[in-house]
Amino acid sequence: MERAQHDPILFIDGRWRHASDGGTRDIINPADGSVVAVVDEATVDDARAAVTAASRAFAPDSASNWRNTTVAERSAICDRIADFLERDRDEIARIETLDTGKTLRESHIDIDDVVSVFRYYARLGAVEADRLVDVGDPTIISRVVREPVGVCVLIAPWNYPLLQIVWKIAPAIVAGCTMVVKPSEVTPLSTIRLIKLTEEAGAPAGVVNLIQGSGASIGDALTDNPDVDLISFTGGATTGAHIAEVAARHVSKVALELGGKNPHIVFADADWTSAVDAVVTGVFLHSGQVCSSGTRLIVEESIAQRFVQAVAERAATIRFGDGMDPASETGPLVSETHRAKVEDYVALGISEGATLVLGGRRPTGDQYAAGSYFPPTIFDHCKRDMRVVQEETFGPILTVERFIDEAEAIALGNDTTYGLAAGVRTADSARAERVARALRHGTVWVNDFGVYTAAAEWGGFGKSGNGRELGPTGLAEYQETKHIWTNTAPKEVGWFTA
Ligand code: NDP
Repeated sequence: MERAQHDPILFIDGRWRHASDGGTRDIINPADGSVVAVVDEATVDDARAAVTAASRAFAPDSASNWRNTTVAERSAICDRIADFLERDRDEIARIETLDTGKTLRESHIDIDDVVSVFRYYARLGAVEADRLVDVGDPTIISRVVREPVGVCVLIAPWNYPLLQIVWKIAPAIVAGCTMVVKPSEVTPLSTIRLIKLTEEAGAPAGVVNLIQGSGASIGDALTDNPDVDLISFTGGATTGAHIAEVAARHVSKVALELGGKNPHIVFADADWTSAVDAVVTGVFLHSGQVCSSGTRLIVEESIAQRFVQAVAERAATIRFGDGMDPASETGPLVSETHRAKVEDYVALGISEGATLVLGGRRPTGDQYAAGSYFPPTIFDHCKRDMRVVQEETFGPILTVERFIDEAEAIALGNDTTYGLAAGVRTADSARAERVARALRHGTVWVNDFGVYTAAAEWGGFGKSGNGRELGPTGLAEYQETKHIWTNTAPKEVGWFTA
């Protein structure tokens, strides 16, 4: 693509613009290293201009009077965006696959999920009503009403670019907020397409703004800003902690969805076939680049040897390759930089004394030569204090620990600073309930793994973050509550008697 000819992709105050200094970035297809697009790389001034535009659009005297629009109007925008996503489903799925490397099948599923999130919040806005409080005096009307938080900065990672940003955009629109959206610099393409759809759906100028560029260069210009009321961030723990620190300077609200190191606990009485399948899918889907990936297999000692062997045999048959090839079951890692990080974790696991059972080396063969491929990798006989067990590798690496009894399984499952998601597999429903309640994780799957619904909250305990996305709480994050106390029969208080 000719640099001079690329379309402007920064969207500020209802206008598509190039970066103010003409800076650009090549977007790389991780399947073959080719350049799939050239996009603008925003400057600090562009980032500030986007926050200013969002701030103006939220002002009471803004041209669109956005904050006083009705929930029905805002929900209709979300429904129209969902309609357009369905219309453009195939095109956007291809964009997502070219940008992230994930398979076309996964990209289609992501778009269907995104549609369901827009539709869910379009409905929820209408039913989440104000609350009347009975204060025991019929002359008093006490009401708790909901109002938009204000100007939001929404920051997403590269693994589920469209999905993660929509978990934020949809409730923010329904709540009546204005926003600046920042995708990962590595994977901005589907978000750019989505913002075009918000424009087509009738979101007024300044309500949804888009900034693309390196977080390290423009991140602080977005977050270290007194005009920002809420920062909603999904990404790594270190970046999240930095954002929380910066936000504290202005007492901006912060919602953080950080990583996870998620245990998948398998008891000896679990259904064998579905357990093997779920462990393999839970960790190797999207080459492990999933915050809720089941990277820690915690299996009962009595079946461990046979179970790990079955998992390894099944994982060895996974067909990885170009996401555009319908035969591929999983794609490459998102970038060369990320593959190097995953390889470092493999070397670390070996140096810590874990037993390498499968994978661990770049695949050979012409079809893999230009892409960032890495095969399913399994480490057995891991100890709970190994770094490869405790740190998020964000790659196709499964570690295996063994337990003797239920108490040890729970202790291992909770032995993490994270607390995003966990799985437990057993035929004993009473035990399943005990373990599910004992695990300190934001989501627990019983005899299932990796599924979610727009109507149920998602988020983490511990270092996995704070706040929740999805469900009613995911809308409440973007709302302030206000208590209005109305005295319908005012009279003297009678406290001061003189
Ligand atoms: P990062 O934390 O590196 O980046 C996340 C986003 O933050 C990107 O858009 C990045 O921009 C931006 N960013 C980076 N520095 C700053 C800054 N100083 N100020 C503002 N924004 C900044 O994470 P990754 O993109 O590498 O994503 C992977 C991580 O995300 C993993 O740790 C994973 O666990 C986590 N994650 C968590 C999920 C959850 O639901 N809990 C879901 C998905 C991922 P840029 O890329 O342009 O530098």
